[in-house]
Amino acid sequence: MKAAYVKSPSNVEIKNVERPHAGDNDLVVAMRACGVCGSDLEKIYGQYSQPSMRLGHEPSGIIAEAGSNVKEFKKGDRVFVHHHVPCYSCYFCLHGNETMCQKYSETNLSPCGLAEEFLVPDWNVAHGGIIKLPDHISFDEASMIEPLACCIRAWNKVKFRQGDSVAILGAGPTGMMHVMLSKIFGMKDIFCFDINDFRLGFAKQIGITSAIHSSDPQAYQKVLSGTQDRGVDVVIVATGSLNAISQSIDIVRKGGTVILFGVPTKDAKISIDISKVYSKEITITPSYAASEPDTNAAFKLIEEKKINVNRLITHRFNLLESAKALEYAHQGNDSMKVVVTNSERLN
Ligand SMILES: [Zn+2]
Ligand SMILES: [Zn+2]
Repeated sequence: MKAAYVKSPSNVEIKNVERPHAGDNDLVVAMRACGVCGSDLEKIYGQYSQPSMRLGHEPSGIIAEAGSNVKEFKKGDRVFVHHHVPCYSCYFCLHGNETMCQKYSETNLSPCGLAEEFLVPDWNVAHGGIIKLPDHISFDEASMIEPLACCIRAWNKVKFRQGDSVAILGAGPTGMMHVMLSKIFGMKDIFCFDINDFRLGFAKQIGITSAIHSSDPQAYQKVLSGTQDRGVDVVIVATGSLNAISQSIDIVRKGGTVILFGVPTKDAKISIDISKVYSKEITITPSYAASEPDTNAAFKLIEEKKINVNRLITHRFNLLESAKALEYAHQGNDSMKVVVTNSERLN
């Protein structure tokens, strides 16, 4: 069968690999849709790209094989699959830091989500890593459960009130999910920052207060004048850009919160005025990945059609075109979410 691999930095290839087989407690899922994530791009085009890195962790599909001991799921079920599943009993899990759990990082799909079929290990099957999809959720929509879950985890870390203001730095697919969540949570003013005019235009269509070019010399003033000179209550940095982190310290209000959500390049260093962070009493909170409650919440919002993730998908490529899909998501100035799909056995 076919699967996508990092061949060398900036280079993706489709390889012929052996089709996985389920052990007694495992599942094999035939991928139908898998979103391209910023962290996939970091694995290919980032500074520490390595051929061992797995591509695709936002998959949905159909169960192709169920181990003989698996009772809850059967061949033919339509499912969303979470690649990482924590233990729920270690020190980190018991403190609510499930995404820091050792088991969380050890568990994974094999060979990866960007494959014709992948093995879901027994741990994930038995510990809430699979959601059965009702017929009215498409595979494309289900592939958006994981990124939306990551956004929900970030929001769960913020103290906010209805009518508060938010700035979202980085108007990519997850930036747009943060816009949609801002509306659901009753945020009044939503400011979006980006350097890409297509993406700022896209944000305007979804409905925000103000789209601001990141390098606009008036950016700071625009936020101040839109918030009675206070600055915004919450800033979500939905980009790996270090400039955005610096900017977040300027535009957040005294006592406000900055969420570090985008994936920075490994070993990235930044110089910020920490006296400003201190005297403005700014809370800086990173949010990494998602766990089961976040995933269930994301599933519910999509299932109940409270969030229309379909409108975020601008491009689809088939599995054999994965290299193109990833390149497009990397370079594309006119793309929002890029999804890789597959519908048949390829060989
Ligand atoms: Zn992701
Ligand atoms: Zn744990």
